[in-house]
Amino acid sequence: MVDAQTKILGVIGDPIEHSLSPLMHNFILKKIGMNFCYHAFRVTDSQLPEAVAGARALNFRGLNVTLPHKTRIVRFLDEIHDEADDLEAVNTVLFSHGKMLGFNTDVIGFMLAVRKTGVDLAGKKAILIGAGGSAKAVALGLLRLGSNEISIYNRNEIRAQITADFLKKKSGSNIFSARALSDWQLYRDVENAAILVNATSVGMYPDFEQIALPEDLKLNPEILVFDLVYNPIETALLKFARSQGAKAENGLDMLIYQGVASEKIWMGRELDVSDFYDELKKTIIEALEKNGTN
Ligand code: NAP
Repeated sequence: MVDAQTKILGVIGDPIEHSLSPLMHNFILKKIGMNFCYHAFRVTDSQLPEAVAGARALNFRGLNVTLPHKTRIVRFLDEIHDEADDLEAVNTVLFSHGKMLGFNTDVIGFMLAVRKTGVDLAGKKAILIGAGGSAKAVALGLLRLGSNEISIYNRNEIRAQITADFLKKKSGSNIFSARALSDWQLYRDVENAAILVNATSVGMYPDFEQIALPEDLKLNPEILVFDLVYNPIETALLKFARSQGAKAENGLDMLIYQGVASEKIWMGRELDVSDFYDELKKTIIEALEKNGTN
């Protein structure tokens, strides 16, 4: 029940009307018995300064930040923490003692989702398709999971190079390389890579029949194909991977783990979601199915 004590959380972005975050966070808040409510707010580029000032003035506890504001929000922060600093991108804001603090939970979300699959990346090669905002978070996650070679393939090769250079500079590691998605080297790399991650929007509803890989690519059966896309739940890429005997995982666990990590920041404590994790995931899948996007 909402009362005069209820604290406000939310997500800002544009577009935002299909966001699963309100469903997920309100579910978690109810389960952990906190008097908070979580809303989705459509905030356009030009409205960002007013939205930030409004959230501060109305005593919001925190915000999630999604496209197109993840980078631009940085200039409004008093402090930037953990991976948000490395990535220069923020997906979680905490308002605390008059200050606005920025965090990035995409890295930990990705790492926990990969760990859940049981695949060990220590000393192994990784292939990353995409070079946008989430690709940077994934690349940092792959590095932290112990990958010793991360090949970034992107449709726009120059962007892949810029991302690889950015990651080298920020992490101090030299294991990132960049190539065009059309480069034949991809055929060689998949022979012995332990993971291939799709961090592009290819395959996302409504263009769910597309895959970002050449269709004659042969996957090794040991490879984990991890698709950040979760709408549809079973993307064309995951079907392609399974048809070749490879392991396949969608982006739902990453979505949930990054959300739980945001909750920990806002609540200022550890949270054990294991009792209701499966119920939460089922609720999200049902919502995706109900919206007719699956
Ligand atoms: P972004 O910054 O806009 O980057 C988009 C990427 O997709 C770029 O690398 C772009 O390549 C590539 N791309 C787009 N259309 C393409 C096409 N037709 N063929 C080949 N490549 C194409 O987006 P983002 O924030 O990184 O998000 C990427 C995806 O990850 C989205 O689907 C998003 O929903 C998903 N995501 C999931 C989670 C999760 O928790 N599961 C978290 C974050 C993001 P160019 O540079 O060549 O344009």
